[in-house]
Formats: sequence, structure tokens, C-alpha cells
Amino acid sequence: METNRALYKDLESILITKEELQEAVRKLGERITRDYEGKNPVMICILKGASVFFCDLIREIDLPLEIDFMVVSSYGASTKTSGEVKLVKDLDRSVRGRDVIIVEDIVDSGMTLNFLKQTLLGRGAASLRICTLLDKPARRRVPLTADYFCFNIPDAFVVGYGLDYAEVYRNLPDIGVLSPRIYAEK
Ligand code: 5GP
Repeated sequence: METNRALYKDLESILITKEELQEAVRKLGERITRDYEGKNPVMICILKGASVFFCDLIREIDLPLEIDFMVVSSYGASTKTSGEVKLVKDLDRSVRGRDVIIVEDIVDSGMTLNFLKQTLLGRGAASLRICTLLDKPARRRVPLTADYFCFNIPDAFVVGYGLDYAEVYRNLPDIGVLSPRIYAEK
């Protein structure tokens, strides 16, 4: 744990360490490799939050997979979802007839993944599974269950390992709870 970095001063606590993340991602990669044996899934990274997780995860999967990226927005510079999901950048290729795995950083209200699931199924994906690093089940507003997840977390606003607050903290190697004084200051 590298608690001497300037950004760590803004954390209330460290929730998941770099080592725990590495181990969980390795196990998840093995599981996806087994589940999709003989297939070539399209893995879709939901930018920007899932980027760090996605880059680590795909390198733990031993399959001829393809990757693509989507950008959706629902938060802005806030710690609460606006409830309205907007598609900012779409996929480059069609997913018709493909086995799709959506890779997200966190499921909170479930609105983002619900929107993405409906959108991609509507485009004729052969199968669709949801893979998320973190799950905050206490805050669900729509019924949404991830097919793969690494950690259940309590109802707190977390940053690091790709997750931001106002675009900062994505480069922290661990995941921590952001100190409320940071967003109270804004
Ligand atoms: P949902 O649509 O499920 O409410 O929210 C999903 C998105 O909200 C995530 O992709 C993530 O960008 C953002 N989000 C939800 N909870 C947190 C959190 O604790 N920390 C950060 N940094 N983002 C969050």
C-alpha cells in the first residue's frame, strides 16, 4: 500500500488493496476463459471508469476475444447519479449474433447497465452478460444482477483503479472511500 501519495490524503479509508484487486481479476479471468471456451466474445469496456479493470481483465482471459468501447454519462461532477443515462460514444462494430460481455466498474442504481443491456440486446447480440468489478446492492433503483462481479461494497462513494471524482483519482492503484470533506468543499 502506497499511502505516501498525495491523493491518498483525500481518502477516508482503503477498501480494496492493489493485491486484492490483482487476485480477484486473475480469478475472474480464469472463470470467463472457462465459461466461453470455444467462443470469441466481444468485450465492451464502459469508459472511463472501467478502463483500468478492463485492461487488467482482458490480459487474464485466454480466448480470441475482441474489444470495443462505449462512453455513457449519468453523473457529471457529482457523487449521485442524475438518473438519466446518455450514450456519448457508441461501438465501432455491430454486435449482431455476437456473445457480448459488458465490463463496468460499478453497479450502483443499475440504471446505466439496464440501459446498456436493453440497447445491446435490441441490436441482436446472441448472448449478453454483465461483468462488474464492484457491486453496491444497497443502492439499486432497477432490478439488475451482474453475471460476474469481484466485490460487494457498502453504500459509500469510492475512487481509484479507474473510478473518479470529478475526473481525479483514477490512477490510484487501490480503491478507497473518498473523504466527504472533498465533495463538501465543491
Ligand atoms: P448506476 O447507473 O448503476 O447508478 O451507476 C453506474 C456508474 O456510476 C458507474 O459506472 C460509475 O461511473 C458511477 N458510480 C456509481 N457509484 C460510484 C462510486 O462509488 N464511485 C465512483 N467513482 N463512481 C460511481
